[in-house]
Amino acid sequence: MAYDRNNVFAKILRGEIPSQKVFENEHALAFKDINPQAPVHILVIPKGAYVSFEDFSAKASPEEIVGFTRAVGEVARAQGVAQSGYRILANHGPDSNQEVPHFHIHIFGGKRLGRMLPKE
Ligand code: AMP
Repeated sequence: MAYDRNNVFAKILRGEIPSQKVFENEHALAFKDINPQAPVHILVIPKGAYVSFEDFSAKASPEEIVGFTRAVGEVARAQGVAQSGYRILANHGPDSNQEVPHFHIHIFGGKRLGRMLPKE
């Protein structure tokens, strides 16, 4: 799947639409999810143009992967959920219901999160 430069997170990265930013470094930007599913629900996105984890894991440089991964941990600590616990989640492709085609990791926390996946 080709990267769509007009996806909503690309627009956030370019500053064309607002976001509630909580963290930024050379490789990553983190902001509050617009429709939070938990008391803490943050999205962490790489600055590079990657459609999903599938794309990122195959094509990102080691520096991007390290910078991004460290950013996810730093955001979780800054949000105060490193001790209480949190869940990270990344959707890829149709079976996952991925909505936004720019790789992002969700960080959920601040409450007991229950089962990993709902029962069928
Ligand atoms: P996914 O289904 O993994 O692609 O998740 C996309 C997430 O992006 C959803 O949780 C949405 O609520 C969130 N989202 C969509 N548009 C925005 C936006 N403009 N700012 C913040 N979060 C957004």
